[in-house]
Amino acid sequence: MRVYLDNNATTIVDPQVKKEMDPFFVEKYGNPNSLHAYAGETHLPLKTAMEKLYAGIHAPKEDSVVITSCATESNNWVLKSIYFQYIATGRKNHIMISEVEHPSIMATAKFIESMGCRVTYLPINNEGIMDVQTVKDNITSKTAIVSIMWANNETGAIFPIEEIGELCKEKGVLFHTDAVQAIGKFPVDVQSFDIDYLTFSAHKFHGPKGVGALYIKKGKELIPLLHGGSQMGGHRSGTLNIAGIIGMGKAMELAIDSLDFEMEDIREMRDAFEDELLKIKDTFVVTPREKRTPNTILISFRGIEGESMLWDLNRSGIGASTGSACASEDLEANSVMEAIGASEDLAHTAIRFSLSRYTTQEEMDYTLEVVKKAVIRLREISSSYAYAPEGYESGLDSHHH
Ligand code: PLP
Repeated sequence: MRVYLDNNATTIVDPQVKKEMDPFFVEKYGNPNSLHAYAGETHLPLKTAMEKLYAGIHAPKEDSVVITSCATESNNWVLKSIYFQYIATGRKNHIMISEVEHPSIMATAKFIESMGCRVTYLPINNEGIMDVQTVKDNITSKTAIVSIMWANNETGAIFPIEEIGELCKEKGVLFHTDAVQAIGKFPVDVQSFDIDYLTFSAHKFHGPKGVGALYIKKGKELIPLLHGGSQMGGHRSGTLNIAGIIGMGKAMELAIDSLDFEMEDIREMRDAFEDELLKIKDTFVVTPREKRTPNTILISFRGIEGESMLWDLNRSGIGASTGSACASEDLEANSVMEAIGASEDLAHTAIRFSLSRYTTQEEMDYTLEVVKKAVIRLREISSSYAYAPEGYESGLDSHHH
């Protein structure tokens, strides 16, 4: 049996999405900006796809949804533009992000820091969540932007975006949220909260890879990252990824249609699986499940290196993760586990299971059996587990056990 439980890294393209994209390679390939009938064939489908994206995040017409090549581009764009507009010009001198942002925010912030901007990396609490008070304590009149992810890719922890947005608005500070792990997991409405910029990416919600977007509130214009032609109203140049945009539009529509299923059925399946995993001795989950996206579990098995567990799972056809996909080439501790101050031995034992609407109960039952066997096998050969004394300090708060 093959089981894919790495949906926070990327998802299967929904066959309906692929079907919608198919005509836009060989049959309809005109550049929508051209002045002939070939262009006309792509114009309307593009418009329809854009309308689905606006509807999906409740963006009003006067705001912009700008198509990019991925969430990484959207995240780079926001921070670099703010650097050019506010920091390089001396109007402001400071930005804030959380210490558990995706590398596309983290590395961009580090780059801006190297250019002379002050950057605050806001800590998360022991539940893996950012407290609004932490933002409040660090925000100044010289802060240009606060960028906090809506949901964390590793733990699924949902951050208090509403309160952070309110605070930023009150202080006259711009607010960006990386909503990559939020779309399709719970309702995202840019109008109900004070959000100036919002990032998302099609391949995290059963759309194609290589297409993402940045929502920009009216009046919060950015400087283009890619200068060139007048595509996307001059916001982002480069010939449009027609099939990709059409695919993302369809994927958004399906994600919205599937929200109830995701929030009820997937959550139920996740919770039942988690209940069973937590029956295994010496297992720990950081973020309480009601404060998480419905599809994610980051769990530690004391005494078992995450990579060893991944290897055992993979041999049985199960794809999971030790955290961020980009980190899986090196044997580093899970960064969220480190950020919450988990002990060194626990930080290396985290495994992430992320479900999707394609995940079945049969797959979860199979995975549970494989995990149970792997735990027994790996703990037998684990030097650290064998010597852990009874009642050994967990390094995590006891109420999360
Ligand atoms: N932000 C978050 C929270 C993510 O989980 C990811 C994907 O791993 C990204 C950004 C980057 O997305 P993309 O692959 O579209 O650049």
